[in-house]
Amino acid sequence: MQSKLLAWYDLNARTLPWRLRPQDKLAGKQADPYSVWLSEIMLQQTTIAHATPYWERFISKFPTVNDLANSNRERIMAMWSGLGYYARARNLHKCAQLIRDQYGGFFPKHESELLKLPGIGPYAAAAIAAICFDEPTNIVDSNVERVISRIFKIEDPLPKYRNIYRIKAGDLASIDRPGDYGQALMDLGSVICTPKSPKCSDCPWLSACAAQKDGSQIQYPKKIKKKKLPIRYGAVFILINDDSVFLRQRPDSGLLGGMMEFPGTLWSENKPQSINNAPAVKNWEKCPEIVSHTFSHFKLELEVYRSQGKLDDNQGVWADINDIGSYALPTVMLKAFKISMK
Ligand code: SF4
Repeated sequence: MQSKLLAWYDLNARTLPWRLRPQDKLAGKQADPYSVWLSEIMLQQTTIAHATPYWERFISKFPTVNDLANSNRERIMAMWSGLGYYARARNLHKCAQLIRDQYGGFFPKHESELLKLPGIGPYAAAAIAAICFDEPTNIVDSNVERVISRIFKIEDPLPKYRNIYRIKAGDLASIDRPGDYGQALMDLGSVICTPKSPKCSDCPWLSACAAQKDGSQIQYPKKIKKKKLPIRYGAVFILINDDSVFLRQRPDSGLLGGMMEFPGTLWSENKPQSINNAPAVKNWEKCPEIVSHTFSHFKLELEVYRSQGKLDDNQGVWADINDIGSYALPTVMLKAFKISMK
């Protein structure tokens, strides 16, 4: 199975800007750990299409891990804006600084050491160690879980029995070309063994696949039904003064920690009953549209209010509305801003 998959990969590897082509790898080139690390962190919970322009901007502004470490956090948060899961951006900066200060600007080579760095979990540590340093690790992401679930017809549902999938994947993993093997398996899941319409006739593992034999492919992986997300409600207040809009910074810890926001109410299970805690200017006008946004553990509905005027508040900043994209505003706030401008 290993040689079949690697032969398929040699001909069909996806071209990705952070990835070394299999022929370059076979010629002895090594993947750049900084590029791979950046891509792996960005791709958590994000599609390749969405993450790639961010990766390109980061690599162009910060060509090395030391450049990233030497930048200030606000700039990194602003460049991350729109990618979501903002703890990743905070950890990205911390991790770069640690690599600069404790590892002389070089990534550690072993999975066990990579795992100790901020923001690097089991999947990313295994991927970086295998892809960049040829350590025989077991790289398992959701694409790999899907392939493995179908090959073995695993009945134990995800995420509860994730470890079973890891063990099965580990049994198949290659020690000869561990990085290429891991990438090959992820490519197989992403391109061939897709969730709804797997292209089994193009699959190098067709003859070994239990689910394919009885046509039950799309019934796998088995998953525990997700609970319905609760809804929280709140309001934001968008105050414009000439070409500026008032922003403040969220506390460092917690949801969207360290990002910028418009002043607003707390987000709670009850709809806001009044706008008493709006900034002290008059004539707040309620916008006809609301913001709907989904976080990993709740849905949010935000009323948007707008007004014009000055504010005597040194807790925030006045941002240029023509350059709003350069501030570290999360997507939910950018949605509110767009609604206020209609
Ligand atoms: S044969 Fe089909 S279901 Fe089985 S691993 Fe290949 S693509 Fe997936």
